[in-house]
Amino acid sequence: MRDSRETLTKKAFVTGFPVKHSRSPMIHGYWLRQFGIDGIYQAHAVEPEHFTLFMQQLKSGESGYVGGNVTIPHKEAAYRLSDKPDEIAEELGAANTLWLEEGKVCATNTDGRGFLANLDQCHPGWEGHENSARRAVILGAGGAARAIIQAVRDRGFREVHVVNRTLSRAEEMRDRFGPRIHAHPMGALPEVLDGATLFVNTTSLGMDGEAAPAIDFTRMAAEGVVTDIVYVPLITSLLRQALEQGRPVVDGLGMLLHQAVPGFEKWFGRRPEVDDTLRALIIADMEARS
Ligand code: NAP
Repeated sequence: MRDSRETLTKKAFVTGFPVKHSRSPMIHGYWLRQFGIDGIYQAHAVEPEHFTLFMQQLKSGESGYVGGNVTIPHKEAAYRLSDKPDEIAEELGAANTLWLEEGKVCATNTDGRGFLANLDQCHPGWEGHENSARRAVILGAGGAARAIIQAVRDRGFREVHVVNRTLSRAEEMRDRFGPRIHAHPMGALPEVLDGATLFVNTTSLGMDGEAAPAIDFTRMAAEGVVTDIVYVPLITSLLRQALEQGRPVVDGLGMLLHQAVPGFEKWFGRRPEVDDTLRALIIADMEARS
C-alpha cells in the first residue's frame, strides 16, 4: 500500500549541472514552511546527456514532479524539449521554469520578471514617466542579458543600448529583439551612458569582489538608476562606484528571489512574497559560504 504522503506531497526540482551551489531549495523551502504546504523542492543534478530522458520522465509523470526550475546548462534544451513554451520563452529560446498541465510540459522564463520586480520593490518609479527619455544601457550580452533586454524593452524603454566585449553577441541581441535595441563595443560605453536612465551590469565583472573597470555614471540622466545582477558581493565594485558618484543603486539579490515567485505559485498554488526574512536567510548563507 502506498504511503498517503507519497500521493499528497507535491514535489518540485531545480536541475542543472552542477546544481549543488543553487540557493533555490533554500528559497522555496522558506516559502513551503511559511505556508505550511506539504511539498518538497529539491536539487536534482542531471548531466547534459541525460536531460532528454529527464524531460521524458517529467512528462510521463514517472519522476513524480509537478514541475521545477532549470539552470545552466539546460535552459535552451528545456525550451526545445517542452511542449508548450509561452511567448517569453519562445522569443528567448530558453526556459527556466517548467510545469505540467494536462500531460504537457509548459515552459516560461522568469528571469526578466524577477529583474523588473526587484527594481519595482527596491526603487519604485525607476522606469520613469511614459513621456521621459527611458534610455537603458545593458552591459553584457550573455544568457542573463537576454531576459533583461526583453524585459526592459517590454517595460516601454525607447532605446536599449547593449554594450559587450564581443560585439557580435550584442548584434545578435539587436537582431533577436528588434529595432529599439542598439549594439556597441566596450569602447563606446562612456558615450552611450550620456543621458541614460538605467544602467545594468549583466556581465560577471565584479563577481566575488574582483575589480571592475572605472565607469563615469555622472554622464547618466539626473534620475538614472544603476543596478548589477551579480549579487556576490551584494555591493559590487560597479555599485560602489555608482554610490560614490551619488547614484541610486539596486543590488542583484532581489532578482534571484523574485524570479522564483511564478514557479512556486504554479507548483504549490500560493503566491509567495519576497520579504526581509528571506533576504536575510540568503545573505547569511552567502556569508557562511564566503
Ligand atoms: P554568460 O552567458 O556567460 O555571459 C557572460 C557575459 O559577461 C558576456 O556578455 C561576456 O562577454 C561578459 N564578460 C565576461 N567576462 C568579461 C570580462 N572580463 N570583460 C567584459 N565582459 C565580460 O553568463 P550569464 O549566465 O549571462 O551570467 C552573467 C552574470 O549574471 C553571472 O555573474 C551570474 O551569476 C549573474 N546572474 C545573476 C542572476 C540573478 O538572479 N541575480 C541571474 C542570472 C545570472 P563576451 O560575450 O564578450 O564573452
